[in-house]
Amino acid sequence: MSRVALLKVPDYREEGVLEAFHTGFSLLGLKGDFFAGKKVLMKPNLLTSFNVERGVCTHPVVVRSAAVAALRGGGSVSLGDSPGFEKVERVARAAGITEVLHDLDIPLVSFDDGKTEVKFPQGKVCKTFPLGVPVTQAEVLLNLARLKTHNFTGYSGAVKNLYGCISGRSKMALHMRYNELKDFSRMLADLTGFLRPALSVVDGIISMEGPGPRRGTPRPTGFLIMSRDPVAADAVACTLAGIPPREILHLRYAHDAGYGTARVEDLEIVGNSLDELKIKGFQRAPAYQREGRWPPPFLSRLFRNYIIPLPLVEKGKCRACRVCVDNCPAGVIRLEDGKASIDHSRCIRCYCCQELCPHEAVELRRRLW
Ligand code: SF4
Ligand code: SF4
Repeated sequence: MSRVALLKVPDYREEGVLEAFHTGFSLLGLKGDFFAGKKVLMKPNLLTSFNVERGVCTHPVVVRSAAVAALRGGGSVSLGDSPGFEKVERVARAAGITEVLHDLDIPLVSFDDGKTEVKFPQGKVCKTFPLGVPVTQAEVLLNLARLKTHNFTGYSGAVKNLYGCISGRSKMALHMRYNELKDFSRMLADLTGFLRPALSVVDGIISMEGPGPRRGTPRPTGFLIMSRDPVAADAVACTLAGIPPREILHLRYAHDAGYGTARVEDLEIVGNSLDELKIKGFQRAPAYQREGRWPPPFLSRLFRNYIIPLPLVEKGKCRACRVCVDNCPAGVIRLEDGKASIDHSRCIRCYCCQELCPHEAVELRRRLW
């Protein structure tokens, strides 16, 4: 049975977060040899270079506390990611993480400088992953996610955070190959089965609701979740946010494949109880298409362009920076008269353009309502 430590942490004051890590480790029964003498790689969410207040990246105090725990435990610690489109150094600086690394003398590594193709023959849909080189060299993967909504996958936490282990532009290629939500979610489940992070932490001290994972609203929610099972950590986070965990396809598929437990009834939750920390009225991602709701799949296919929200460029805000052009997995955006223009007939609705546009010039809208 997977064990999940759920801890009430009202704010990011350092002593409180450090104390929560200490308590969490002890509740999970993590022994002294967990980090000792091992190469520990911390993988926070470093999506984009927004400042700490926007709640996009894993909070620096959570990163600091995890790093202190790993260093005290005798690990050789580094931190890395492959952000959406920027250099990891830039995102880490904006997110307040460079300072932490400097204080603790921890190297920052990029997953974008070279990749290693790793084989996973038992993968249901994906049997090869192009991973950042540091990921393949780590002995302990410390997965430091943030609780956020996600317009494409519905929810982003421990499992989704692992997608940043895919090196640089290979993320676009995988998005294109697995362009339907079901397939993308199956690929994420396979990735989880391959990576099996040693410990996953979901930063829910301040979460993101609404149109996440980048443009949602930060909301104080007051907890940290820790588990050796990333699917279980996410199942608890979803339940607290009022999202049925099995509605999130990557959690359902990872559970069904035996890579973790998405059924909260089957979890051993230690620390605080779910009832104590439930979030009231958490705003879901508005563009996320829940499975099984109206319209039925055949109608959805027929009227795709009208039913599923489309990315639309607000010309007045577009500054022709080309970020969307260079990062659209389907290659369907180009600049026309100095503004981005999308060929919707070939758009796969991955919403990467909306997620990455630095000028918030891409909106998601349905054509009919
Ligand atoms: S839509 Fe956004 S990302 Fe695309 S070119 Fe315009 S400003 Fe840049
Ligand atoms: S236009 Fe936007 S939503 Fe459509 S495929 Fe490109 S990045 Fe994805």
